[in-house]
Amino acid sequence: HATRLSSPLSFEQSARQVRDNSQWISGGVNSNFRLNISPTPLVFERGEGPYLYDVDGNRLIDYYLGMGPMILGHRPEALCDAVRDQIERGILFAGQTQVEAEAARLVCELVPCAERMRFGTSGSEVDQAALRLARAATERQKVVKFEGHYHGWFDNVLWSTAPSLDVAGPADQPVPVAGSKGQLPQSADALDVLPWNNLEILQRRLAKGDVAAVIMEAAMCNAGAVHPAPGYLEGVREACTRYGTILIFDEVITGFRLAPGGAQERFGVLPDLATFGKAIANGFPVAAIAGRADLLDMFSSGGVVHGGTYNAQPISMAATVATLRSLKPSLYSLIDQRGTRLMEGMREAFASAGVQAVVTGFPQIFHVAFGLDAPARDYRDLARSNKKAYVAFTTGLLHRGVRALERGAWFMSVTHDDAVVDETIAAVADVARELKS
Ligand code: PLP
Repeated sequence: HATRLSSPLSFEQSARQVRDNSQWISGGVNSNFRLNISPTPLVFERGEGPYLYDVDGNRLIDYYLGMGPMILGHRPEALCDAVRDQIERGILFAGQTQVEAEAARLVCELVPCAERMRFGTSGSEVDQAALRLARAATERQKVVKFEGHYHGWFDNVLWSTAPSLDVAGPADQPVPVAGSKGQLPQSADALDVLPWNNLEILQRRLAKGDVAAVIMEAAMCNAGAVHPAPGYLEGVREACTRYGTILIFDEVITGFRLAPGGAQERFGVLPDLATFGKAIANGFPVAAIAGRADLLDMFSSGGVVHGGTYNAQPISMAATVATLRSLKPSLYSLIDQRGTRLMEGMREAFASAGVQAVVTGFPQIFHVAFGLDAPARDYRDLARSNKKAYVAFTTGLLHRGVRALERGAWFMSVTHDDAVVDETIAAVADVARELKS
């Protein structure tokens, strides 16, 4: 690896273009989560399989995967063909199509809780739809969310979320922390923020009988890749049923990734409602809300409004059908094998370099935390990890052609084959040694 170490990649063109673009685009980027990337936000020319190609001519192994969607890798052939085919038929009709019915049929076939569903265009938006349904169905207002769980960027849920890693109040009674300036302070009035993975605290809260919905990532994957404690999801399910509270799984990351039917299939616990995005269409702007028919049918006959000009946009629906048809069990076992090998290889690389790191999660999405000696159980554990060292690590990796999120989550695709895994492990070993010295 001597050559790669002595000639790390350069990102000067990206840096220059982002600077130039900032005369039109605020900060030169179109999402705050693309700001403050070390050494610079990147500008890309194309993607193919596990690789991205940037304007400096670098080929990067991509573990961002569009922040999670690209479980089939960049530009899967069947999806590209389906999209080209659909574009010949038209772009937007404000009416129904056969392709959207097929996409919906596939969602209901794959997702255990999905008796009925509706499409949307972003995870943030379908999470709002889920909360509205829950409030309408229960005629209650309060919603419980958990510290570190992210449910989109809107006022009423952007409290105590990653990536801020801010915490306030005692661990068993967190004080909601606003994620943004300009957020309506009263938007937290109808919200209770609780610690995740603590059943007793949740049971006590629900027993008051005034909670419309509990919304959670069934495995906390936006910050880290944290497993639910054994029995936790079952306990949450039981408490929600007992106290008449709607259980919402936000499966925007875990859906179609942890298993064809998402976290609910993987852990065998059924929510009343679930929301999806990201991997549902391998990069096209598609989201979905699915669940109990009596709840979803409140959209059609219960006076609950759900709209969106681009809902079930036909080209995106063609991408959805192509993606969902590709999600065979064999795909998950391939990712399972390679992801497991990558996690193992990284653990060995850190151990032999003497770097204290925890590599944990799932082969389809895992997390690396520096300075912890055991897998995090919740957000406060993660907040104690050494984020500065981790950014130095991802910056080092980028200079060796591996692009990984500075927040610690690694997304796998079916195109990350054994050779790609080997190359990644070698880069991790280089950087780990360098960090230690
Ligand atoms: N829910 C979770 C768990 C997410 O990770 C995200 C996005 O990262 C969202 C909701 C919001 O989805 P979107 O960015 O499509 O609005």
